[in-house]
Amino acid sequence: MTKTLYLEDSYMRECDAIVLEVADARSVVLDQTIFYPRGGGQPGDTGKLIVSNSDSNPNREFRVVNVMKKDGKIVHELEAGVQDPGLKTGDRVRLVLDWERRYKFMRMHTAAHVLGSTMYNDMGVLITGNELGEEKTRFDFNTENFDRALFDGIVKKVNGLLAQDVELKTYSLPREEAMKIPGVVKLANALPPSITVLRIVEIPGIDVQADGGTHVKNLKEVGQIELLKLENKGKANRRIYFALRP
Ligand SMILES: [Zn+2]
Repeated sequence: MTKTLYLEDSYMRECDAIVLEVADARSVVLDQTIFYPRGGGQPGDTGKLIVSNSDSNPNREFRVVNVMKKDGKIVHELEAGVQDPGLKTGDRVRLVLDWERRYKFMRMHTAAHVLGSTMYNDMGVLITGNELGEEKTRFDFNTENFDRALFDGIVKKVNGLLAQDVELKTYSLPREEAMKIPGVVKLANALPPSITVLRIVEIPGIDVQADGGTHVKNLKEVGQIELLKLENKGKANRRIYFALRP
């Protein structure tokens, strides 16, 4: 099992780790990681892995191009062509995150929760899919009401909330207890029944959400959002795209 440091402190940019398993020529499993594995609409982190203690290749650097969960393991995928002479089990490595990229996702993710909760509260809309990006984020949902003025109003409201000085809280709750919180699972079908303890991300007064993503500490870090585009792909398939400003 890999210790998930990114859940304990999303602001860790570097850490040491030990190679537990070389899954194939290009992928490694580590004893702990600051790299977020792709999931919940948030992309996997990128960065580098520097070998700090190995006879065969001291100070060798590997580019981490993606991180994902596979068979319950967190797999760090390394850039092609760097595997020789490769890593081996027991190697000590230093992990360095592409921080600017990750921080953008943290701001996007927190913004997405504020937007999701505002759409839920004001329109009764549940998000059916989402994709966080560096430049823009997409929400999929369904609703009868779909006009620009309505969404301009929603975005204005969201920006009002984002201007507040609000500290986020993260904690665990047993599933049964968590499920009593209205709207705690806003992403339909996002929670497999096997999960008995939920990680809750709370933006006090605004949103309480079962969530495994990385967030900013304070709403003020997000900035403002801008509505880029509304897309109508049929009543059951609406889309909204937004970006961060600045
Ligand atoms: Zn989330």
